[in-house]
Amino acid sequence: TGAEGVHEEAHKQLFPEDAGSMSAWVIDQYGTNAVLRYTEDVPTPAVSRPTDVLLKVHAASLNPLDLSMRGGYGATLLKLRRDPLSLGSSSEFPLVLGRDVSGIVVDCGTEVTHFAPGDEVWAAVPPWKQGSLAEFVTLSEYEVSHKPQSLTHTEAASIPYVASTALSALGNAGGLCAETAANKRVLITGASGGVGTFSIQLLKAWGAHVTVTCSQNAEGLVRGLGADEVVDYTAGDAPLTLEAMDRFDVILDNVGGETELWALPLLRPWSGSKYVTLVTPLLSHIDLMGLLSGGIQAGCALHNKAIQIMLSSGVFYRWGFYAPDGPALDLVRNLVDSGKILPVVEAHFSFPQVPQAFVKLEQGHARGKTVVRVT
Ligand code: NDP
Repeated sequence: TGAEGVHEEAHKQLFPEDAGSMSAWVIDQYGTNAVLRYTEDVPTPAVSRPTDVLLKVHAASLNPLDLSMRGGYGATLLKLRRDPLSLGSSSEFPLVLGRDVSGIVVDCGTEVTHFAPGDEVWAAVPPWKQGSLAEFVTLSEYEVSHKPQSLTHTEAASIPYVASTALSALGNAGGLCAETAANKRVLITGASGGVGTFSIQLLKAWGAHVTVTCSQNAEGLVRGLGADEVVDYTAGDAPLTLEAMDRFDVILDNVGGETELWALPLLRPWSGSKYVTLVTPLLSHIDLMGLLSGGIQAGCALHNKAIQIMLSSGVFYRWGFYAPDGPALDLVRNLVDSGKILPVVEAHFSFPQVPQAFVKLEQGHARGKTVVRVT
């Protein structure tokens, strides 16, 4: 058909026949920044399943997970997820990091219905797949969404992974959505980073009342994004300041550690309130003790803690996780294109500067996202 002819032409222009290998930043072993290697010899990924889409990456962004994965975090479980029956090569290397992508579709499997070559798309690449610090990446069409028209690729790449995480944590674990969040009191700890700056905007778009903790010098940023109350955790009396406020319906904890000790009592007791933490020991337990022992140990610890918290205060205690979800990104696209959610890009780097981008991430104190322009 005519439409197919147009798609073929777009495909030829975007993806020339000689594209057998591509440039990428890879690691060949786990370690510090020294293990990052630039190469132009990585085989270009192909559409191997009928529902696959092949994307040309225009921009990627970095998340704390990239630093952890560079060091080997999650290796045991992710390796199993990549190759459940251990049928393929036993090595995950060369491994491409990078979890966010904004780019253009260049090829589609035979059963792909929502995308065609030439479409501008964005996605969060699951950690068990080859990442976006590369010229091309292959994903399932269910993980991909059309990119907001109002954003450049660099801006768009700052959103998918934190958005997928926030939607999964606040929605699935926290029970909030556009219909239920109005006037709910939500506390976000660590609100100045990637997940926090997105979550503030999502919750405000849903009509929630948002209190956050962050450093004093991030107050302007988080207020600009809509935070109603801002508590400086470096002042030392943050728990007391928060205790003096009305109780919360949901807490999204981006900090973990001792935060739980003082933050759990801030929730409204016996009213279905929820504590959702993104800082969980699941993957590190599995790395340390193996899939079975580590998984069982982490699961038991969560179960015991959740029961004890439920029995003593009626509060639901849950772990939040990133979950790949193209349709969820469609909802985010609408919020972005209607001006309700802005990208928060703190720093951007060119493709040759990927090691510097990792150094920036290692320094901590993120104020939004670090983005890499790939092409
Ligand atoms: P970022 O690094 O982007 O942001 C962290 C923010 O927290 C920084 O702005 C930092 O600024 C601030 N911060 C640090 N310590 C405190 C504190 N004690 N109180 C308040 N703020 C603090 O991380 P992300 O937003 O991307 O992710 C947040 C957490 O969630 C990370 O631990 C990440 O690993 C985890 N995560 C887990 C996922 C999962 O699937 N379970 C998925 C995504 C993220 P400053 O130090 O200047 O105060």
